[in-house]
Amino acid sequence: MNIISSVREMQLEAERLRHAGKKIAVVPTMGFLHEGHLSLMRIARTYDIVMSTIFVNPTQFAPHEDFSKYPRNLERDSELAESAGTDILFTPSISEIYQQNHRTFIDVEKLTTVLEGKSRPTHFRGVTTIVAKLFNITKPHVGVFGQKDVQQVVVIQRMIRDLNFDIEILVGPTVREPDGLAMSSRNVFLSESERAQSTVLFRSLRHAEELLRSGERHVSRIVSAMNEMITHQPSAKIDYLSIADVTSLEELSDVQERSNLVISLAVWFGTTRLIDNIQVSLP
Ligand code: AMP
Repeated sequence: MNIISSVREMQLEAERLRHAGKKIAVVPTMGFLHEGHLSLMRIARTYDIVMSTIFVNPTQFAPHEDFSKYPRNLERDSELAESAGTDILFTPSISEIYQQNHRTFIDVEKLTTVLEGKSRPTHFRGVTTIVAKLFNITKPHVGVFGQKDVQQVVVIQRMIRDLNFDIEILVGPTVREPDGLAMSSRNVFLSESERAQSTVLFRSLRHAEELLRSGERHVSRIVSAMNEMITHQPSAKIDYLSIADVTSLEELSDVQERSNLVISLAVWFGTTRLIDNIQVSLP
């Protein structure tokens, strides 16, 4: 595995590979890799070249958020990325990515003001900007992202379409711990007790899905049931619970037949904010 940290060097290498006819898949990450990230690298492995990127992107964190304490371990990440089939690991510094007086940002309207965007108003502007930059640096044919961050996928797909990026987006399923908790780099922040309580998130999503499948069509009743389950855990503080259309991300008050829904949530356990979602297609 080749490790590159210079933008120019990465662009030259990507250009060389493209010229040699190689199909490139990129997996952008913020590192502290876990099985969720590695599963995306294995999906990318079906292409000729797997490029993975590790960059804790400051512009997607608000000033009060956890940028400085976000977990990092480049040495371990390099071994894991290589074991999952990464050919080139791009690990730039902040100054390499954001030159002084960086002034250009990408804003996808509407889709970024709901759900995560309501709680984190500047988040997606940072995400779309870094993803566009990483696409310009790694020159991929394919970008691989996780369903775990479903709104990120929807927003990036819209950016790709609206700005005519010639890149295909693949989405990998959410990888979970055996007890259902979605894997996340932030899970290390959970205390033992918070970790035990956090399993309620997936259970509440599954319960909501069961209610939908058994014919419940009132979103308020489903959300109340989730709310009750989650608030039963002493450390849990709900940020949002939502049932929305998976394309527009518009929240629904009642559910129609034949709809594609995403049930999503953000919940604090102590100082750690966790998100999760499941997608449900009603026949
Ligand atoms: P992050 O390092 O958290 O920015 O995530 C990098 C990529 O990995 C994103 O596309 C995430 O959606 C994806 N990802 C994070 N956690 C998981 C998971 N548990 N299962 C699948 N993909 C994930």
